Amino acid sequence: MPEPMSELTGLGVSPGRTAGPVYRMSPPPSLPAEPPSVTDSAAEVEAAAAALRFVADELTRLSGQVEGAAADVLDTESMMAVDPTLADAVSRRVDAGRAAAWAITDAIAEQQEAFAAIGGYFAERAADLADIRDRAVARLLGLPMPGLPMPGEPYVLLADDLSPADTALLDPATVLAIVTRRGGPTSHTAILAKARGLPAVVGCAGVLDLPDGAVVSVDGTTGFVSTVDDAEVASIRAEARRERARLAAFTGPGRTKDGHPVPLMLNVGGAADLVPDTEGVGLFRTEFLFLGRTSAPTVAEQERAYAELFGALGDHKVVLRTLDAGADKPLPFLGLAAEDNPALGVRGLRIARDHPAVLADQLEAVSRAATAAAADVWVMAPMVATAAEAGAFVEEVRKAGLPTAGVMIEVPAAALQARRLLEVVDFVSIGTNDLSQYTMAADRMNGALADLLDPWQPAVLELVAGVASAGREAGKPVGVCGESAGDPLLALVFVGMGVTSLSMSGPSVAAVRAALAAHTLADCERLAQLAMDAPDAPSARRAVAEAGA
Ligand code: PEP
Ligand code: MG
Repeated sequence: MPEPMSELTGLGVSPGRTAGPVYRMSPPPSLPAEPPSVTDSAAEVEAAAAALRFVADELTRLSGQVEGAAADVLDTESMMAVDPTLADAVSRRVDAGRAAAWAITDAIAEQQEAFAAIGGYFAERAADLADIRDRAVARLLGLPMPGLPMPGEPYVLLADDLSPADTALLDPATVLAIVTRRGGPTSHTAILAKARGLPAVVGCAGVLDLPDGAVVSVDGTTGFVSTVDDAEVASIRAEARRERARLAAFTGPGRTKDGHPVPLMLNVGGAADLVPDTEGVGLFRTEFLFLGRTSAPTVAEQERAYAELFGALGDHKVVLRTLDAGADKPLPFLGLAAEDNPALGVRGLRIARDHPAVLADQLEAVSRAATAAAADVWVMAPMVATAAEAGAFVEEVRKAGLPTAGVMIEVPAAALQARRLLEVVDFVSIGTNDLSQYTMAADRMNGALADLLDPWQPAVLELVAGVASAGREAGKPVGVCGESAGDPLLALVFVGMGVTSLSMSGPSVAAVRAALAAHTLADCERLAQLAMDAPDAPSARRAVAEAGA
């Protein structure tokens, strides 16, 4: 019998359209209603610790099967499983009479509450904790490990939320797309799905009501999920194949139809994120090396990590961003105080105020790695708000012997002061993820505010246009490296505003290259004007889509 028609809408976080049957994750283990009584506390504490060690080892083993960002998230989760704070909380509960599986469940519930209260990066770690709990409980009760379905045919994966472990292990040969009921625009699901080129929709209410085997179409751009029949599946898949073939026909460096060059660069966390035929790296996020560490990585250790990426790039350009961490991406070795508003606190370049050696050491490591490599190494700082901060950063970069220093434009104050900033830096790169968050006063982790976080918002477009025109006046490069640079229509708009390069994740490059090749610079300028004239984000997107198609 055909399923009743369903049309659902979530937040499209990884573009592309596909269709197929849905299957959901194996359910997490549930605890029996009556906990057993504890007779030997010491043995019970050891059983709980052994289960958590098993989970940590398993996650480390899984991390060895993947690379790049996927391996990093699994390693972080593995460290969380054997965190001493969790072990203490579990022992306290066992001492109070709770059996191991119940003690772990209660201790993790308490940590999740605390993480949710802090918000931001920590709130996003709640899914990691739930995964640790489910694996440890399954181990203790002898139940099957929760995890990915294996229906024997390519499928659309449904889940309440995906743990990093699940997302990291997805096989693109069998998973067509991902749809989750929860999750925000910068959740692991979003980041890793995009890195693998899988269409993904998050925050899709009602999706778990679909029965396993129901056939749906998924649009990772618009966020639409709807049930379809077999004929529609065939036509959607054929269209997706045609689109892939069309994009593959465009090769070479990014340029408009009339030959205006627009380098298309990559956003990477390390060499594993590089794709073939790249024009270079526009954003090297260096924080992975620092996160979760209890002691600072040494200069030599950093030098090795940077040299690996520089070496893989030949003589291409790479823009390295200095450490972008702080209260919401904690660095235990700095002992930073907890903050009520971490996104507005001591993060990014601000860490150098009290910890100048962290920046100096990093620049020293970059300089050594750059000297030994052929790559053209540029360095930029995150979270810069004033021209004075930019000037001080440039001085540090020059002191380290590096020739090209810039800053990210992520704070509205920096966008408004772009002319002054451009007097002291060699280039700027606009981070539209944070620029949207701070301009619209909307937490970028919060899926419920996705409409405000939309980079097509007139206020955000106006700031980008202002920075681009300041760059043109100063004769200095202005890049965009937020997620929006990978949206083919916005890419045209940015180029029309005067942006000189775009940086995005590998799978986004082909569509942006094709969009540029189909439009002249004058076309882009016209589209930019249309976007700027629109009163709100949906009408800006619509006006450009209609005129630019
Ligand atoms: C941005 O804010 O747009 C950006 C590119 O940096 P991140 O996403 O790492 O904060
Ligand atoms: Mg940022």
